[in-house]
Amino acid sequence: MTKKALITGITGQDGAYLSHFLLGKGYQVYGGIRRSSTDSTWRLKELQILNHIEPIFLELLEESNINHIVRTLQPDEIYNLGAMSFVQTSFDYPLYTANVVGLGAMRLLEAIRQESPNTRFYQASSSEMFGKVTENPQSEQTAFHPRSPYAISKCFAHFSVLNYREAYNIHASSGMLFNHESPLRGLEFVTRKITSTLAHIANGKKIILELGNLDSKRDWGFAGDYIKAMWLMLQQDKADDYVIATEESHTIREFLEKSAGYLGLKLTSEGEGVDEKIYDQNGHLIAKINPIHFRPTEVDLLLGDASKAKTILKWKPEHSFDKLVKVMMEADFDKVNKGISLQ
Ligand code: NDP
Ligand code: GDP
Repeated sequence: MTKKALITGITGQDGAYLSHFLLGKGYQVYGGIRRSSTDSTWRLKELQILNHIEPIFLELLEESNINHIVRTLQPDEIYNLGAMSFVQTSFDYPLYTANVVGLGAMRLLEAIRQESPNTRFYQASSSEMFGKVTENPQSEQTAFHPRSPYAISKCFAHFSVLNYREAYNIHASSGMLFNHESPLRGLEFVTRKITSTLAHIANGKKIILELGNLDSKRDWGFAGDYIKAMWLMLQQDKADDYVIATEESHTIREFLEKSAGYLGLKLTSEGEGVDEKIYDQNGHLIAKINPIHFRPTEVDLLLGDASKAKTILKWKPEHSFDKLVKVMMEADFDKVNKGISLQ
């Protein structure tokens, strides 16, 4: 029997890679697409899978829409990847973020409970929940200290999953995924912002990269590795929560320097704090600080302990930090070089 998977947020980075992966496993993939006047399917086109998925208009704010989809589809698996996923914006739209990210997950769980209790559920939880970390590295046991409306909303969704599992025996799992990136990452996230801007600079465009806090550290993996862990969680007899991480942490500054290195640029800094300026070996100004990118509360350091996923799911990341930076830098450089507009 062909398995049916419903993916919310299919037009996002993870939605595209997960769809590609599930189609390869023979799934019938139903893609929850948010109705909009602009086309958001570029990632599905880039992976050449748009014509292989069944699109469904799905809005996480709309309970009746979700109930109808779950009732009529009776999916074997639901992957809830839909979210207002940008931390910085969540400070400007806290209530909207809570509604989409927090209540959106509960709407799906409630629909499963009422309409399709045998559906297995994956929730895209986040390392942002650890926030102001209480220990290093962070594991499934580490206490949460969220530092943004986005992270607070993810905590609500995370505990909703736990409660629906315990109260109603629903097969619901949370993947506590640390940052994961790729050439399909949104341009506003710092990794892709760096690789896309450097690609333009290397191709002769006169622009300066404007960044915020260069000293925060992230445990960055490759999205294509991480979506496999999502699927593995739903194949287990018992639903559970898992940290997914590379177990290595790097500063934004290191990501910048490494990306520039792939283009033959050697960077040096002058000045400190908001006055810091970063030049290449020929004295060209490459990057400067713009405080607009500082956050009211920052997450200074994330470093995951993925031993539970390694032991139980037999999952491990395939991409090192160096390989991730290389893949992203090469992809953006190649696109700009060929005149393909970056999205
Ligand atoms: P993206 O931002 O790339 O994708 C988000 C998706 O959610 C898009 O398809 C977007 O649709 C959709 N969406 C937004 N609002 C709604 C709504 N109201 N109703 C329905 N769909 C909506 O995120 P990623 O792919 O990077 O991440 C996937 C999930 O994993 C997210 O929940 C994210 O918070 C979480 N996560 C991501 C991490 C990462 O490092 N990437 C780390 C940990 C967790 P549209 O295209 O129309 O905007
Ligand atoms: P996040 O971990 O989900 O918030 O992912 P981001 O890629 O948005 O941010 C990662 C880190 O990079 C955070 O500590 C940001 O403060 C830092 N950062 C520094 N400059 C920038 C910038 O210009 N844009 C973004 N998005 N983040 C920046």
